[in-house]
This record gives sequence, C-alpha cells and structure tokens, in this order.
Amino acid sequence: MLLVTGGAGYIGSHFIKTYLTQNPDAQVVVVDNLSEGHPQALDFSDRILFFQENIGNIHEMGEIFKRHPIDAIVHFAASCCVGESQTQPTRYFQNNVVNTLNLLKAMDEANIRKFLFSSTCATYGTPQRLPLDESHPQNPINVYGQTKLMIEQALQTYSATLGWSYTALRYFNAAGGDNSGLIGEGHSPETHLIPLVLKAALGKRDAIEIYGNDYDTPDGTCIRDYVHVNDLAMAHCKALERLNTQQGGDAFNLGTTHGASVQEVITLCQKVTGRDIPINHAPRRPGDPPVLVANADKAFSLLNWAPQYTLEKIIETAWAWEQTPRY
Ligand code: UDP
Repeated sequence: MLLVTGGAGYIGSHFIKTYLTQNPDAQVVVVDNLSEGHPQALDFSDRILFFQENIGNIHEMGEIFKRHPIDAIVHFAASCCVGESQTQPTRYFQNNVVNTLNLLKAMDEANIRKFLFSSTCATYGTPQRLPLDESHPQNPINVYGQTKLMIEQALQTYSATLGWSYTALRYFNAAGGDNSGLIGEGHSPETHLIPLVLKAALGKRDAIEIYGNDYDTPDGTCIRDYVHVNDLAMAHCKALERLNTQQGGDAFNLGTTHGASVQEVITLCQKVTGRDIPINHAPRRPGDPPVLVANADKAFSLLNWAPQYTLEKIIETAWAWEQTPRY
C-alpha cells in the first residue's frame, strides 16, 4: 500500500487521482498537515485514507506505519517557491530537510525501503549546457533547490548503506489542471507564473510582473520548460512500477524538452483567454537561472513516459480551473 505525503497539494492530488484511476482496486494513505494543501483536493474518492499530520512527527508517522501495510512512500510534502526560499531559508530547511529526514527515520524504524521523491530542476543551478540531462552537475543557486539536493544526497546514502530503492523525479515547471475541474493549482499566496498571468486576465490582479527582461535569451525573459501536472502524475505511476524491481537509486528529469520564455507564456495566455493582460516590468527575482529546459530522454526510454500536453493545452486546462476554482 502507498503512503502519499502532501497529497492534498497541487501535484500530490493530481498524482493520487491518476494512480487510483490506473489501480482500480487500490487505496492510498495520505498524510498532509493542510498548511498549504486543501481538503477539497481529496474529496474525489473514498479510497483515500486521510491523516492530517505533520510528516516530521516521527511518533505519529510510526503509528500510521504500524496500522497500515505501507510498502512505499511518495513524498510531495514540501515548500516549493523559489522566491520565498530566498527570503525564508529557515522555513525551507525545516519543511524540506528536517521534516523529510524525520520521515526517513520513521521509515527506517518501520523497515520501509521504497521512496519516490519530488525533486526539481532547481537542483542543477545555472546550466553549463542545455538541455539539462541528469548527469549535469547539481549546483543549486536558490535555497529551494539546495534543500531538494540535500534530500537526494541523503537518499543516496540510505540506498548505499541500507539498500533502499528510491527514485528522484526532477520536475521542470509543473502547470495546468485536471480536465475534471475537481482539482487544480491553488497556492496561497500564488507565486507561479501561469496562474498569476491568468488571474491578471480575469482582473483578479492588476497586471503580471515580468521578473527581468535583460537575461541572455532571445526576448530577454527567463525560459522554462512547462510540463502538465497530469503528465507528471503519470510519470510517478511509471516510476513506481519500476521501483518494484529497481535496485538502488535513480533520478529522472521530467520536462517536455521545449522551453518557453515568460513573454511567450504571457502571449499564449492572451491567445487562449482572448483577453488583454497588462504587463509591468520588474527587477530580476533572486535565485532565477536564465534558462531551464529538460533533456528527458532517460524518462522517455526507461520509464516509457511521454508528455501529452502542449503548452497551449496546459494553459487551456489552467484557464478552465482559474475561471471556476473549487479552492
Ligand atoms: N515569473 C515572472 N513573474 C511572476 C512569476 C514568475 O516573471 O509573477 C517568472 C520567474 O521569474 C521564472 C518563471 O516566471 O522565470 C517561472 O517562475 P515560477 O515561479 O512559475 O516557477 P519556477 O521556475 O520558479 O519554479
């Protein structure tokens, strides 16, 4: 049985929905302290056993492990905003490192040895070559990326010393929402580009600020690789299957291999919404590399994964959600 941390969050909830669809007889245990997640993000199924708990609470996690036959953990619970990580490093070390190390301790005590980890392309830092493959050096330039790298390193150690199997999935930029309209992106405060642009289209914000237009890119704005949240969810399902036979640890980039600039995203949002979106220019955001684009060949071949959503489709699903969000 799977235990999913952070299952009431954005990517976690989309993973659970996909996983339960793919595994019609399965149940999942979800642990989420609801500090950033939403209970409504779990109300689509009665096969979810939900515990409102902090994953850093070793005693409580041990009790959950005693009561349920958990054989693998899918770990989404984390703080995930680059900008915020630069101004609140303590919060990121606590949430992403200390709490996760506690979770690993509770797993060790319960002899659970399979772990699927939400990592990030932010562990690479400023690219030395593009697109980024998994062997690119990991030199994060923001606290968020640093905290995720620290856990990748801890997992390498658990694997080398105790024989754990783990997979680190290095997401590029998750975006979009489920076609059902039941779940979507609902951060508070929202800091991510696509939902902010769409909120500006709806008039919920005055304008979208572009953080820097003097980068060494064709239009001067940062380039990212936006990947649909349900494509990420499917990659987790495939990585979980592989984890059953995999020895040791492994890491996969999850991106589409196509980059889009901030300006291009805004232009496409204008097309999809049919609305004018006011723009303000703002200084660069500390911790932002100019370009992050995936080489995802490893996931394509070893996980047999292929993203299904174009950027336009991603924006369409995000737009549908933004107009009628449930939370
Ligand atoms: N960005 C921006 N204005 C915003 C939010 C984000 O220009 O209001 C830029 C940000 O600097 C980055 C890109 O959009 O280059 C994607 O940022 P996001 O926070 O969505 O994801 P990240 O790449 O930080 O994980």
